[in-house]
Amino acid sequence: MLFRQLFDSESSTYTYLLADDRSREAILIDSVFERHARDAALIRELGLRLVATIDTHCHADHVTGAWLMKMALGSKVGLSGTYGASHVDLPLAHGSTVRFGDEAVEVRATPGHTNGCLSYVTGRRDRVFTGDALLVRGAGRTDFQQGDAVRLYQSIRDQLFTLSDDCAVYPAHDYDGRTSSTIGEEREYNPRIGGAAREEDFVGYMRNLGLPHPKQLAVAVPANLRSGQPEDGRAPSSPSWGPVVTTYAGVPEIGPEWVALHRGEVRVLDVRSQAEFDGELGHLDGADLVPLDDLRARATALPTDKPLVVVCQTGKRSAMGAAILLKAGMTRVANLPGGMVRWRDLGLPS
Ligand code: FE
Repeated sequence: MLFRQLFDSESSTYTYLLADDRSREAILIDSVFERHARDAALIRELGLRLVATIDTHCHADHVTGAWLMKMALGSKVGLSGTYGASHVDLPLAHGSTVRFGDEAVEVRATPGHTNGCLSYVTGRRDRVFTGDALLVRGAGRTDFQQGDAVRLYQSIRDQLFTLSDDCAVYPAHDYDGRTSSTIGEEREYNPRIGGAAREEDFVGYMRNLGLPHPKQLAVAVPANLRSGQPEDGRAPSSPSWGPVVTTYAGVPEIGPEWVALHRGEVRVLDVRSQAEFDGELGHLDGADLVPLDDLRARATALPTDKPLVVVCQTGKRSAMGAAILLKAGMTRVANLPGGMVRWRDLGLPS
């Protein structure tokens, strides 16, 4: 099974991508709204077909990217049916199964942090995605959103600590760089519920966490009850000037065929040397030449009346060029992937 752990540094959220090697069907667990472009790019670049975005619970600290993925990739939205959230295609409950190709995750109800918290266990039971029920050396707070420390104690003991010692634990968050743990480790070392901890120990600990109210609560919960659909019902608009796609590497790109068809609507900025510009690959008609070494110094003097498409030999230096222009405050910028080599191979005019 293909497995990736992704991180949102703003909310310290982990997002997990799981995919079946054979069919390339994938699921995404606990996606983050603001990380949509990154996650969608990874799915695209790995050649996966996202079948579902599932959340471990209705989050209070970030907005889910589930609805955005549904709009972009046609994936289903999965969440506990407990919350009654809109746009949910898979109202999940204890005992449900979410399939992707030959793989699947089993749903276990682990309420206590919220009343609808679910944990997802892989088919081989070698990984469990615990949401905010069980964290690495911690457990999710129980002081709002129908939180209940007694229920959480029972959930962890009965649904998670019954998994095998070597089952890897992947939480929804960590605030100290800890990426994963195992059931055996948490059973022994978790300071809230590990070792010989009894219910009253856990409950007493949780009652006295004294955490500040989550900053995002008032925004995140209502948005998550819409599966992350923005209030105006519309996805944030991608650049209006052309079909720009941002790669997993973070580079905005625009296809050469589109550029060839819309040549008059953009400025082409060639960042190769003068010798390459005049060389065998040629250059695009009307392209401006600013060698990459000079671009940083000249970036703010470039015209901004039209979007800029940055080009080089193979699309690498121009990707750096696009990054320099974006950093200089330009917004309508895209790299030409594959550069002049691909342009020539496609037989486009130069
Ligand atoms: Fe949470």
